[in-house]
Amino acid sequence: MLQAVKGTRDLLPGTCRKFRHVEQTASQIASLYGFDEIETPILEPAALFLRSLGDTSDIVSKEMYRFTDAGGDDLVLRPEGTAGVARAFISEGLAQELPLKLFYRGPMFRRERPQKGRYRQFYQCGVELLGVESPAADLEVIACGYHMLQELGLSQNLTLRLNSIGDLESRALFRDRLKDYLLQHRDQLSKDSQDRLERNPLRILDSKDPGDRKLLEHAPRLEQMLTPAAREFFSQVQQGLKALKIPVVIDPLLVRGLDYYCHTVFEFTTENLGAQNAVLAGGRYDGLVSDLGGPKVPGVGWAFGTDRLVLLLDELKGEWKRTPSFALIPVGDRAEALLSELAQELRRAGLRVDLSFSGNLGKRMKRADKVGATAAVIFGDNELNADRFQIKHLKSGTQSEVPRAQIIEELRRLATQP
Ligand code: AMP
Repeated sequence: MLQAVKGTRDLLPGTCRKFRHVEQTASQIASLYGFDEIETPILEPAALFLRSLGDTSDIVSKEMYRFTDAGGDDLVLRPEGTAGVARAFISEGLAQELPLKLFYRGPMFRRERPQKGRYRQFYQCGVELLGVESPAADLEVIACGYHMLQELGLSQNLTLRLNSIGDLESRALFRDRLKDYLLQHRDQLSKDSQDRLERNPLRILDSKDPGDRKLLEHAPRLEQMLTPAAREFFSQVQQGLKALKIPVVIDPLLVRGLDYYCHTVFEFTTENLGAQNAVLAGGRYDGLVSDLGGPKVPGVGWAFGTDRLVLLLDELKGEWKRTPSFALIPVGDRAEALLSELAQELRRAGLRVDLSFSGNLGKRMKRADKVGATAAVIFGDNELNADRFQIKHLKSGTQSEVPRAQIIEELRRLATQP
């Protein structure tokens, strides 16, 4: 039997609904902050990610779905969204539009080892703010992410971790110091970290290995190498978050794995998803657009994992509002013949209507329950003769008779009741 590719999933209607709820909430809140939606292609030239993420990143070195197509082009199924947005900024000539605030959503692909909360095809929503150098931009994107998580009812259970990795100068200095220190203790490092020592020593700060973590306790600290300008930038971000009453934990070990970050890096994490604890992550990337051959344009943004937010909503038994729906239940041939006409009238009035195509009253009531209808509109010969329909509220079980001409009004009223 043919199965979905390992690490990919079918999102069945119940799950899809939750995905859309998360995406729509994100999109609505993003628009409150002035972010407009952009959609970039899933297929991008491999060079885009080689140049932006850095060849030592895990994504580029081992996780990309990269292939040569029949025409000989070197392509990648995008592993993340920021590089594509930066590419679009350059190739669409959007420099006149700065500052630019963009929101995106869609599937990303990474060949990671699948487990709960980690898939090979997963979904992200993200925002990017291009063209603003000041910490006000960092605050704007973090505040927007926090607002979304709050709106989804998740912010209580998440921790915002924040760090500064400084400007390029601070980072280069730190990288050398850290490497010198770790080289002295090379034998005590885990195998993975030994491999990273040459390629990307900063990533060792992310290590979960207890031995590595012990060594890191005495390693040089990034904060000691920050230039005065980088220090001032970081302090303004922290003050701003305080003023916005967004709780934050400074995490000196947070560096994030990609080459393009500078200054602010942050992550919202949870205790509720096992090893996959990051749900929203991002930072500032002032060098990215110019690294890709565009003008020198600063940027800051983040992405959240839609799959993980849906899992969290499930774990926390989070509520998502479904549009109320109504079941139309005809009794007898005359009513049956009028069914689709009435359904059409209600749908044109903006009401969500479910029809069962056959069965007696009992069977149809069962289906109304199963689809979670708010109420059933029941009508047979008696109702048609009297021009009054029965409306049965499914949760309370109460039933009332409503004049035919007032059905739409009554259903709208029920639809807005909590
Ligand atoms: P990143 O682009 O790695 O910074 O990831 C941003 C967010 O995307 C993470 O915090 C996760 O919530 C989500 N994410 C990253 N990789 C995966 C994956 N393989 N499966 C599901 N979600 C992921």
